Amino acid sequence: MSAVSFQNLSKTFPDGTRALRGVDLEIAEGEFIALVGPSGCGKTTLLRILAGLEGPSSGTVLIGDTDASGLEPGERDLAMVFQNYALFPHLSVFENLAFGLRARKRPKDEVDQAVRGVADRLGLSGLLKRKPGELSGGQRQRVALGRLLSRNPAIHLLDEPLSNLDANLRSSMRDELARLHREHGRTTLYVTHDQVEAMTLGQRICVMNEGEIVQLGPPSEIYGRPATRFVAEFFGSPAINLLAGQVAAEEGKDPRFLLGGQALDLVAKTAPTPGPALLGLRPESLAAVPCSEPGSTLETTLDRVEDLGDSRLLRLSCESHELVIRTDGEAPATGSTVHLRPDWERAHWFDPSSGARI
Ligand code: ATP
Repeated sequence: MSAVSFQNLSKTFPDGTRALRGVDLEIAEGEFIALVGPSGCGKTTLLRILAGLEGPSSGTVLIGDTDASGLEPGERDLAMVFQNYALFPHLSVFENLAFGLRARKRPKDEVDQAVRGVADRLGLSGLLKRKPGELSGGQRQRVALGRLLSRNPAIHLLDEPLSNLDANLRSSMRDELARLHREHGRTTLYVTHDQVEAMTLGQRICVMNEGEIVQLGPPSEIYGRPATRFVAEFFGSPAINLLAGQVAAEEGKDPRFLLGGQALDLVAKTAPTPGPALLGLRPESLAAVPCSEPGSTLETTLDRVEDLGDSRLLRLSCESHELVIRTDGEAPATGSTVHLRPDWERAHWFDPSSGARI
């Protein structure tokens, strides 16, 4: 039995906006799912429907084996951390953290112990008497997380909980979330725009676009075998290089990829069928080599070098395409010619019109 099951779930708002279009998703007990996708793709709506704050237009939500349509929000053993914290402004940090337990009439000792434990863990112990208005954005965000943890229900819903933190705090809170999940193993749906968060926290990543699930899988699969051009472009920094060209095959010869005036030899068994094709090569799948090897290398011009300290990004152009690669070595002078050899084992091919993986 899944902990949560969305079956053919759709949501159309009264103004006609179709936020979800036939979503099917099974989440296992204790699983951490990262929901990612561009703004407006329906991530928050999916969480709000699970929390019971919004009803679906059609389809079914099961929590365990119970149809959630018969459950009030308060009857669902879950809690949600909102992007805007949603703290009670008139209550102290202590009272905010205690709220969920008090509402469930837990004994005072248990409430005290849970609140102090969570406050300690999240570095809020010195702030328990303050009101949310007297806290920084990062502290408020931690109180919002603490409120979830003090009650620690079976299902945790988090909507971009780290979005307002600075880079350092964000990274330490990410570690903390990973640790909490390892310790408590709660079923978690985690919405984020941040691909690093999705990759490091999600056991599976659910990529959404325009109300639909485009791909669902473990991080390695999402990165290593993106189902569409959209997924390929969404993950990876710098973004994947996409080259629109033509696969050509002459009788009795291996196929070639034609890009403007250049041609690259392909291995027949890994090449797509002849015709227009979009070749995707991640920056680490292109190596700069010392000299031109016709048929094996692309000739490019170095436009710009970005020094990252431990490595350099080379921004190059080739037949009206822009490319980027990462290198540990010395960068050549800008304006010089750079020969790039693709790693065909790690090439991705997409249909230029539908964007689907070929
Ligand atoms: P973001 O990453 O920006 O938070 P999201 O993926 O969470 O976006 P949702 O908030 O789920 O997206 O919204 C999905 C779509 O539904 C959007 O087009 C949004 O404008 C629309 N929407 C959300 N709530 C309502 C509402 N109450 N009435 C009408 N449209 C709505």
